[in-house]
Amino acid sequence: MKPLVIAIDGYSSCGKSTTAKAVAAELHYAYVDTGAMYRAVTLHLLENNISFEDIGQVEAALAALRISFRRNRATGRNEVFVNGLNREDDIRQMRISNAVSEVSVIPLVRHALVAQQQRMGRKRGVVMDGRDIGTTVFADAEVKIFMTADVTIRALRRQEELAAKNEHVSLEAIIENLRKRDHIDSTRAESPLRRAPDAVLLDTTHITISEQVDFVLDRVSSALFAAYAG
Ligand code: C5P
Repeated sequence: MKPLVIAIDGYSSCGKSTTAKAVAAELHYAYVDTGAMYRAVTLHLLENNISFEDIGQVEAALAALRISFRRNRATGRNEVFVNGLNREDDIRQMRISNAVSEVSVIPLVRHALVAQQQRMGRKRGVVMDGRDIGTTVFADAEVKIFMTADVTIRALRRQEELAAKNEHVSLEAIIENLRKRDHIDSTRAESPLRRAPDAVLLDTTHITISEQVDFVLDRVSSALFAAYAG
């Protein structure tokens, strides 16, 4: 069967990565969490005291940066490695969430990561989640989903995830972070967060994870049928 590209975009903390991971596992496809890549760049710049405005230094940092994903055999999770070190937990911290959108507006950063993402998906058979997958990275994706949800619900889910990692953050602080990121992400000049005209809207406010996964798998079946019939 023809391997597809499945693009899952949308606002922060709508359940994109949980859904994308489950869909990838079901189809035996690769999964690429593009947000983790922007978080990895942010972590690297912060740790090396590189100003986001200093384009020369950002460019040099990008040239020396290796971002990769490896599957943790014990948990089955894909984890992000930065220059050979496992930084999965570090990139999820609130200090990174608070800075990442300012890094992801930098055109140089976007060009480098988009090119890497396109290489990662060139053989297709991939589920990629992010903000600009259906509009820019794989505008030719066979399945495009655009996820949204009520901001309080999103913040509650995020708060739970952080608490599970022993980071206790108030709901207000999380809501503020989500709103700020959504605003910066959707108003930036370079590949802003936008629903592609052919993306299907999925509101996850009142549905379960398994319903989200089924929704995407249904679209995949239709796309496969269309590819077969066409
Ligand atoms: O998906 P996640 O919330 O981890 O993404 C973190 C941030 O990375 C987003 O708020 C956005 O600024 C940036 N991002 C992006 N384009 C993508 C994926 C993420 O700009 N494709």
